Amino acid sequence: RRCEFRDDVAEYLEEVWDRSASGQRFADLCERLAIPPAHTCLRINTLVNTREEAIQTLARELEGTDYKFEQHPKLDDVLILPAIGPRRVVPDKEGLFVVVDAACGAAVLRGSDVFVPGIRACSSGVHSGARVAVYADVHKACSTGQTKLPPAEERAAKKIVFVGNGIAHFDRADVFRSSDAVTSGLGVEMGDIEFQTPCLGHLDRSLVLQNLPSCVASHVLAPQPGEHVVDMCAAPGGKTAHIAALMNNTGRITAYERSTKRCAALVQWLETVGVTCCSVFKMDARKCCLQALPQSSPSPSSSSLSSSSSQAVEKKKVQAGSVDRVLLDAPCTGLGQRPKFEHATPLTDVIEAPSFQKKLFRTAVALLKPGGTLVYSTCSFNPEENEGVVAWALAEFPHDIEIAQQVPYIGEAGVQYEGLSEEARQRVQRFTPSSTCDTIGFFIAKFIKKPP
Ligand code: SAM
Repeated sequence: RRCEFRDDVAEYLEEVWDRSASGQRFADLCERLAIPPAHTCLRINTLVNTREEAIQTLARELEGTDYKFEQHPKLDDVLILPAIGPRRVVPDKEGLFVVVDAACGAAVLRGSDVFVPGIRACSSGVHSGARVAVYADVHKACSTGQTKLPPAEERAAKKIVFVGNGIAHFDRADVFRSSDAVTSGLGVEMGDIEFQTPCLGHLDRSLVLQNLPSCVASHVLAPQPGEHVVDMCAAPGGKTAHIAALMNNTGRITAYERSTKRCAALVQWLETVGVTCCSVFKMDARKCCLQALPQSSPSPSSSSLSSSSSQAVEKKKVQAGSVDRVLLDAPCTGLGQRPKFEHATPLTDVIEAPSFQKKLFRTAVALLKPGGTLVYSTCSFNPEENEGVVAWALAEFPHDIEIAQQVPYIGEAGVQYEGLSEEARQRVQRFTPSSTCDTIGFFIAKFIKKPP
């Protein structure tokens, strides 16, 4: 199994990857992307419970199972739970099957059960209590509700991938009837999968499921109680909540998010996990910086800000040069997410991502006060979105920012990129899925704003 890209994207990424001299073959990276990380990472939400209480909660939850967890050696608010596996799993002999969509199949590989919205097709005899083999239909090759599973050869060609066995919790007739069909609820309780991990999503208030590099990014930012932190691209809010916890809900977080829907979900999530020090604004973060206006001669555009709606927009903005720390967890191609059967991202999106990231970076630099900290991160392995943006930033703002050392440092040095100094390459922190780094693909760079 390997993660696939569109042909032109694969060709482009392979060329960029080979140029980076990472020492890893692109084909090997694609294989790692198709399997889940070997650990589940849980962040203790110190806003609602202590470390000890959270550890007790998890111990109770796992009582009587074979799962063991440990404290992360460098992060005192992170617990690590190794998956059991890989185990060789073959389709159940009873021959009943359920076909799910690609996102649902990937979630199953990370320990989730199947929920009804993810089901695309199943054999005619599927009923509650039946044993079923579950397949992910990566390219939507099966038609909705079909009752025959294509033969093995055709499945391989059409990327219909076996992901495990489980027990059905639905009757076919209920899910695929033409009117009043069941559209929610548990579909298949998975029992037999390659990497066994417990379902712990319901503990989210006290123990937040968060990828390890994401936890590292907030620690690298190192927000202090009482400070003003701007989280430029905040939803769904995993890092915003972590930052609030590290600040012990004191000081101020200003969180921006461009999407209305994601903004609403962010507000709800922050409330759920007990964050009280954050103001959320639906706004394009490229425009969130309020430049200091010259005292004597206001520009024509400044007088047009007198309308009440413009004033409301201005109130959401933050004064240039006033912020202690900025997190720019940039919108990116997400190419580091795993497990993934395929990335459908078009080539134009991959090529254009860095230019958008650089625009956000400009605003981030303007927001910071002298001595302030900027953390730039992505969940992509693509050097153009990572080392490329760092090389550009250091050349673009030589008098404003310098690259900083990171604590904690759990990942690896950056890959080679034209124009990136050896010092900067060693200071960035890269997580590239490989035999030695078993996390999602991620990248972190830290900068300090120089005095004027
Ligand atoms: N920091 C988040 C977390 O840890 O949960 C994940 C952020 S995700 C990588 C990027 C987010 O930025 C998306 O929710 C996207 O909608 C948002 N976004 C994209 N462009 C934006 C912009 N110009 N201004 C603000 N948010 C933006």
